[in-house]
Amino acid sequence: MSRDYYEILGVPRGADGDVIKKAYRKLAMQYHPDRNPGDKEAESRFKEAAEAYEVLSDAKKRQVYDAYGHDGLKSSGYSGPGDMGDIFSHINEMFGGMFGGFGGRAQQRDPNAPVHGSDLRYDLEISFMDAAHGVEKEVEIEKPETCWTCEGSGARPGSRPQSCPTCKGRGQVTRSQGFFQVSSTCPHCRGAGQTVSDPCGDCHGEGLVRKKEKVLLKIPAGVDTGSRMRLNGKGEGGRRGGHSGDLYVVIHVKEHEYFVRDDQTVYLRYPVSMVKAALGCEVDVPTVNGTAKLKIKPGTQSGERFTLRGEGIVGLRGRSAGDMIVEMQVQTPSNLTAKQRELLEEFDGHCKNGEEEGFFAKMFGSFMGKEKENG
Ligand code: ZN
Repeated sequence: MSRDYYEILGVPRGADGDVIKKAYRKLAMQYHPDRNPGDKEAESRFKEAAEAYEVLSDAKKRQVYDAYGHDGLKSSGYSGPGDMGDIFSHINEMFGGMFGGFGGRAQQRDPNAPVHGSDLRYDLEISFMDAAHGVEKEVEIEKPETCWTCEGSGARPGSRPQSCPTCKGRGQVTRSQGFFQVSSTCPHCRGAGQTVSDPCGDCHGEGLVRKKEKVLLKIPAGVDTGSRMRLNGKGEGGRRGGHSGDLYVVIHVKEHEYFVRDDQTVYLRYPVSMVKAALGCEVDVPTVNGTAKLKIKPGTQSGERFTLRGEGIVGLRGRSAGDMIVEMQVQTPSNLTAKQRELLEEFDGHCKNGEEEGFFAKMFGSFMGKEKENG
């Protein structure tokens, strides 16, 4: 069952040609395949709108449709607007090359055709903790935006840009070099495909003006260096009705003084006294979220690692938090007082048959023995 053409375009039955054209243009922009790559639903909407427009913009066909509906059109031999290629040439005809069409780059460009803005990149440095917890940042971005005085045409209002005579509007020039044909950007129009004899005073013929815009960035918890955020339509402005590009914000996370991060895992070197490492204890360890209790078992060695589950960095898109790895750094005391020295020597006296001595005795044999005698 085909839908009613007026319903498809969302216009009343008595709508005039301009209203129909406007409504169609809006739908064609919305469901254009370039904007909705791979979206079958959008493609069928796009075709449907093209068909509705073709019939309602043609006085004869519209008359048949109004009187006899879809069946009337069929019996009069109308079979729809054809394939996508036809639809594009049809659109370009109607709206002066609104879109490039399929593989339209090499074709002669209409000097009035819309030019879409480029995507832009913005590099943002944030602190380790902001990356861990998420942060909102307002940044000021200076970028080329559509000049509304000339609507991006670059031509003074009332005048029109002309197709570039050097490249015939293609924006590229081709010359032969031996066996090859080499294409390069047209030096006359610098690739624009058009020249402006009477340039707009506000943008000096560029069609774009540099403007500062404040953009609020909502950076989610868990971002890392290299994370990208896309802001729809916040890139370079379009010209002559083309849409704006997107803005990509690329995150760079600063190093932390103590924490080291690998994806969602956080590493921390934790200094612990020789005595506490030997006796065992419970300590408060700083984490990205505050502190966490950590039990250090008796006899802990330097370099030994403990894992605090879920004390790492939270995941993007709802992934659970990573772990934190705490590496012990057993501190050997220096600058001992006389009393401390005495205590340690007494302690050492109790270690005569300790594993440490056994190890060295084995390793150095008689050499160790000699040193002991001299000491
Ligand atoms: Zn301008």
